[in-house]
Amino acid sequence: MERLIKGHKKFLAEVFPQRRDQYHLLAESQAPEWLFITCSDSRIVPDLILGTGPGDLFISRSIGNVVPVTMNDVDGVTATIEYAVDVLKVPHVILCGHSDCGAIKAALNRQGLDKLPKANRWLQHVEAAFSHRQPLNPDDGAHAELCSLIRGNVVAQLKNLRAQPSVARALLEQRLAVHGWYYDILSGHIERFDEDTHRFVPLIG
Ligand SMILES: [Zn+2]
Repeated sequence: MERLIKGHKKFLAEVFPQRRDQYHLLAESQAPEWLFITCSDSRIVPDLILGTGPGDLFISRSIGNVVPVTMNDVDGVTATIEYAVDVLKVPHVILCGHSDCGAIKAALNRQGLDKLPKANRWLQHVEAAFSHRQPLNPDDGAHAELCSLIRGNVVAQLKNLRAQPSVARALLEQRLAVHGWYYDILSGHIERFDEDTHRFVPLIG
């Protein structure tokens, strides 16, 4: 905990004073432009890789960047989506998967989930990834198979995202765009899912 307390002291001393006006504005309201749905993985730091800051990204995180569609009971992800789309009226939703995702590894080897009843049930939503596997990419080396499934999971969850009532409505009203991304931890690069070709292409061409 010491490290966090030290970090917070540094924030109060060095960061906050420089952004006082911005925080003053943000204290009353928010108008984020993006709902960012990603994995809980500690290596994904959205503000760092996208150059964003306070007030920019409305974020939903869960293992495997899942968007459940078949659960009857309420869950945090879909409630967050509904709020972002219907109340905050974000114009963009980005669903971002990443390389070396433990959730997808677990989906490949379900025995490891035997003692994790909640994670096991949650990751059933990842099963759909298998039917959306992407072509193997030689750049992914020994992890090509895992990476193709991770990209497939982005496509699967994107489909689930579009099926959310609030999202479907906003898409119909043409006030929302949805995007599927894959973030490679090793290179730092992001790929986007191209809806026309159904393939992932570099975000920066
Ligand atoms: Zn992950």
